Amino acid sequence: MKKRVLVIGGGASGIVAAIVAARHGASVSILEHQDKIGKKLLLTGNGKCNLTNLNLGSSNYVTTNHEDMDFINHALKAYSPQQVISFFHSIGLRTTVLRDSYVYPETEASASVVSALLRELQKLHVEILTNQHVSSISKKDNHICIISDKQSFGADSVIVACGGKSYPKTGSDGSGFDLLRQMHLQYVEPYPALTSLICNHNGCKILSGMRNQASVSILDSKHSMVASDYGQIQFTDYGISGIPVFQVSSKIYPYLLKHKKTCLTDLTARIDLFPYAEEEKLFLQLDRQLNEYHSFSFEEAMSGFLHKKWIQFLTSKYGLSNKKGKEIRKSIIKQLAHDLKNLDFPIRELKGFDFCQVTGGGLDLSELTPDFELKKYPSVFITGELLNITGDCGGYNLHWAFLSGMIAGKKAAD
Ligand SMILES: Cc1cc2nc3c(=O)[nH]c(=O)nc-3n(C[C@H](O)[C@H](O)[C@H](O)COP(=O)(O)OP(=O)(O)OC[C@H]3O[C@@H](n4cnc5c(N)ncnc54)[C@H](O)[C@@H]3O)c2cc1C
Repeated sequence: MKKRVLVIGGGASGIVAAIVAARHGASVSILEHQDKIGKKLLLTGNGKCNLTNLNLGSSNYVTTNHEDMDFINHALKAYSPQQVISFFHSIGLRTTVLRDSYVYPETEASASVVSALLRELQKLHVEILTNQHVSSISKKDNHICIISDKQSFGADSVIVACGGKSYPKTGSDGSGFDLLRQMHLQYVEPYPALTSLICNHNGCKILSGMRNQASVSILDSKHSMVASDYGQIQFTDYGISGIPVFQVSSKIYPYLLKHKKTCLTDLTARIDLFPYAEEEKLFLQLDRQLNEYHSFSFEEAMSGFLHKKWIQFLTSKYGLSNKKGKEIRKSIIKQLAHDLKNLDFPIRELKGFDFCQVTGGGLDLSELTPDFELKKYPSVFITGELLNITGDCGGYNLHWAFLSGMIAGKKAAD
């Protein structure tokens, strides 16, 4: 007799779990509360879908509970990037590697990932029931009962793959957390991760629209480093954004929780526009530029050395308007060099769930067996972003969603 497996949530993790369970002989249905499955997948990687990353290790993941690292290491060993790639090849999707390690569909279109997954679900006769909002899971003896807003379902195994709270319009509206609460499971309250920082900085309006290759570090009130990264930083009218800012943002809540702090405003994002130059060397370069063009205004002398928005920002900060290069004192040039390497953007808030790429927090991994099965409720599995683990930008979150779906899907069908 075929095992009856129900998957709640037709996102990255749920779809892959359903395919693997069906391949292992189960009769599978997906219950999805949106009108279509795979809505978030379509948005991933700027519409290109960064499936996984060849350069992958536990250092690419954050959890608020350090003890969970053993679980994470074990899971990452169970499904390597190569195995995720093989899975996609097995559903007829060719892949390509860009920038040395970032794996994408060969078409560079997330729509082809979703259509290949849908085709495989169809081939395996997986039932897709949309517009079914699941609000309860209960277990009596060996029977699991799932209740949606339309009907109730019985199953031998259930995989809960409801995602987190980010981009709720794609369906991940946080209702997975309601299910965790109902089952009295331990979880860390969700928080926004891989997101932009809203800052108190009076230069935001001037700098808005700028993009710079720079480093960003998050510092606490004692100037200890919480996290840092390098890459293209985007300056906006509310603060800072871009991949390196996303990467450091994910480390903020784990830091606050670890140090039992609640106040985000003790933290500052420090930007170094010249990370490869010592401050003294930068001072000499600025000094040379201003000497060379000593009879020009500060704005004219600095043209070509810095973008005009940075010149405008420094001119206004130091009152250098109408000053000639030769009139600028060495002490000010020293201060300019210092500032360009230590631009402090005090953090007010993180951009919230409507904008963040992933949800931090989630189910304590200690609630799970290595097969992603709940210790308290055997045959109930939890996968993907609903778990207390966040990956870096670069394919790491989808990798986690896929690997947890694959492991749970196989065990659920056994
Ligand atoms: C803009 C954007 C770009 C991204 N790009 C990348 C990328 O390129 N690479 C990468 O690795 N990661 C990327 N991510 C992150 C990645 O998309 C997620 O981590 C991943 O989709 C999580 O998979 P999941 O299956 O756990 O959840 P989701 O994909 O969110 O799926 C959850 C599903 O469950 C359904 N659901 C929720 N609650 C219920 C309920 N109660 N009843 C029924 N159905 C329910 C939802 O409608 C949804 O379909 C990106 C995220 C965003 C927002």
